[in-house]
Amino acid sequence: LPKLPVFEAIARHDPESTVVIHSGSGRRFKYGELLGDVCKTRNKLYEKAGKTDMNGDRVAFLVENSYDYVVTLLAVLAARSIAVPLSPAFPAPELQYILNHSEASMLLSSAKFAPKAQEVLKTELKDQPLHLELTKFQGGNSHEEVKLEGKDAGEAGMMLYTSGTTNRPKGVLLPQSVMTAQAKSLIHAWEYSPSDHLLHVLPLHHIHGTINALFTPLFSGSTIEFQFPFNADAVWRRLAAPFLPHDQSSSDPQEKITFFTVVPTVYSRLLTTHKHLTPDLQAATKTAISPSNLRLAISGSAALPTPIKRAWAELSSGNILLERFGMTEVGMALSCGLDNADRIDGSVGWPLPGVEARLVDLDTHTVIKPGEEIDPATGRERAGEVQLRGASIFKEYWRNPQATAKEFVPATDGGRPWFRTGDVAVRRSVPGTGQSQLPSQKGWTQQGPMYFILGRRSADIIKSGGEKVSALEVEREMLALPQVAEVAVLAVPSGQWGQKVGAVVVLDKENVPEGRWSALEMRRALKGRLVNYKIPQVLRVVDHIPRNAMGKINKKLLVKAIFEDEF
Ligand code: ATP
Ligand code: MG
Repeated sequence: LPKLPVFEAIARHDPESTVVIHSGSGRRFKYGELLGDVCKTRNKLYEKAGKTDMNGDRVAFLVENSYDYVVTLLAVLAARSIAVPLSPAFPAPELQYILNHSEASMLLSSAKFAPKAQEVLKTELKDQPLHLELTKFQGGNSHEEVKLEGKDAGEAGMMLYTSGTTNRPKGVLLPQSVMTAQAKSLIHAWEYSPSDHLLHVLPLHHIHGTINALFTPLFSGSTIEFQFPFNADAVWRRLAAPFLPHDQSSSDPQEKITFFTVVPTVYSRLLTTHKHLTPDLQAATKTAISPSNLRLAISGSAALPTPIKRAWAELSSGNILLERFGMTEVGMALSCGLDNADRIDGSVGWPLPGVEARLVDLDTHTVIKPGEEIDPATGRERAGEVQLRGASIFKEYWRNPQATAKEFVPATDGGRPWFRTGDVAVRRSVPGTGQSQLPSQKGWTQQGPMYFILGRRSADIIKSGGEKVSALEVEREMLALPQVAEVAVLAVPSGQWGQKVGAVVVLDKENVPEGRWSALEMRRALKGRLVNYKIPQVLRVVDHIPRNAMGKINKKLLVKAIFEDEF
C-alpha cells in the first residue's frame, strides 16, 4: 500500500483495538484487520480496471455506513484514486448527475445497493463507469503483514459534493494532504484519542460525517460505531445500554459512548423522542450524556438554536453542546473550546489550529483588524465575510475554474490565497473566555474576540431600506418565543424597501393549541427583543419547513414557494 499518513496511523494503532462496530448486530472489526482488507480490495479494483495505474481516477461508491464503507474508501485511496462517496438516499437522477460531473470511471456498490447501481447505470452516462459489486468483508484477515511503501501520495483524495443548499452541489476536490491537515487540526483541538468511542449516525457523503466522524477517528485510533439508518429511539437505547442492568436479549455493545457529533435537527429529534422513553431509559440516558460520560457532544452544519442547546444542557446535567463552523471546501474552520466557559450561545468560537481567518467588511471591503470590530462613526458592529486560508482548505472546485477563481482572493503578503466562504460574521470580545488551562490550548490560540455567524451573504443577509438584517439573528430571537417551534427568516422582495424581512414559522403545538398566530401578535412578541427594522413584516404559518439531508433550508426555493404572491 502507498505510504499515506492515514495508513501509517492505522498501522501504528493497537491491532487488537476495535476500529468499527455495527450497532445493530454488535459485529466488531479490529484495527489489525483493516489494512489487509484494504489491500485485497485495492487489488480487486486493479483487476476490474485492467490496470494498476489508477492515479487520480474518480471512483464512486454506494455503500451503507459500515466496515465495508471504511474498507472501500481506504481502498480507493490506496489505488491513488479519488473517492466519490454517493448517498444511497439520492434518487437516480441525482446520482447520475454526480457520476457525470465527476467523470467517474468506476462505480462500486455493496450487495445491498447493487440494484440501485444497476438502475443508475442503465442510462447513457458520459464516461460509462465500470460496475464492481463488492462482496461483504468478513474482517478476520487478522494482522496480515501489509507493507507501506513510497513517499509520493499521488493524486489520492476525495471529492465531496456540497450540500446543495444554495445551488446545484459543487464538486470539492480534497487531496489527501488536505484531508490529513483537517484530521490533524481536529485531533489537536478536540483531543480525539484511542479511548474515544463515537456513535456515528450521519450520512457519509458529507464532510461532517466523513472527515469529523470517520477519517479523523481513524487517524487517532478511536472506535467508530455505526448506527444506520438514523433512528432516535435506537440512539437513546444504545446510549443507555452501559447504564442499564445487563439485558441478555440486547445485542447493544456495552461500551459507553464518549463522542457524538451531529446536526442541530438530530439533537432536536432526540430531545423530542426523549419525552416518550420509559422512566428507566430516561434515567440511564441522562447518565449516558452527562459530561463525565459523554466527553464531547458537537453540533454543526447549520446554526444551533439556543433552545436546543439549553434543553440538552439541562437533560445532561450540564453537557453544553460545542458548536463549530465548517464547510465542504474547508473542513472545520472555527470552533468553540473544550472548556465549558468557551461555549458561548450563538458563537462558533475561534479559528482551529492551522486555520487563519479574517473578516472583510461588507461595505468597505477592507479587512476588519483586531480592535476594529466596532465602527467608530456609528458605534455599530462591523459585519464581514469570513475568509480562510491554511493547509486544510481545498484548492479547487472540480472542473469549474470560474468558480474557483471567483472564490479565492490573492494574498498581499505572499502567503496562500484567501477563500471566500460566503458566510458573514461579526467578532465580539466575550469576557471570561479563552482562559482555559486544558492541554489542548497548547498551540491553539483561543484568545481574543469570538466569531458569531450572521448567515450566508446570498441568503441570510437581508437588505431592507438601507439596513442589513441577519436572518440568523432574527431566527435566534424568534426561537426564544414560546409560540415558535421552527422558523426560517427570509428576504422577501419589496417595492418600498428593496427587501423586507419575512418569517416562516412552525408553531409550538403545546403553546399554541389553536394553531393560529398573526403577524401583529408576532410583532408584539418581538417588540423590545429586536429593533424595529429587524422585526419581520410578514409571517406565514406552515406545518413543516423542508430541509435537505443535513437539516439545512434552501431559502431561495422556500421564499419563492411560500411568498409566491409577493414576487
Ligand atoms: P451549497 O454550497 O451547495 O449551497 P452548503 O453550503 O450548505 O451547500 P456545506 O458545505 O455542507 O454545503 O455547508 C457549509 C455551510 O453550512 C456554510 O457555508 C454555512 O453557511 C453553514 N454552516 C456550517 N456550520 C454552521 C454553523 N455552526 N452555524 C451556521 N452555519 C453553519
Ligand atoms: Mg456552500
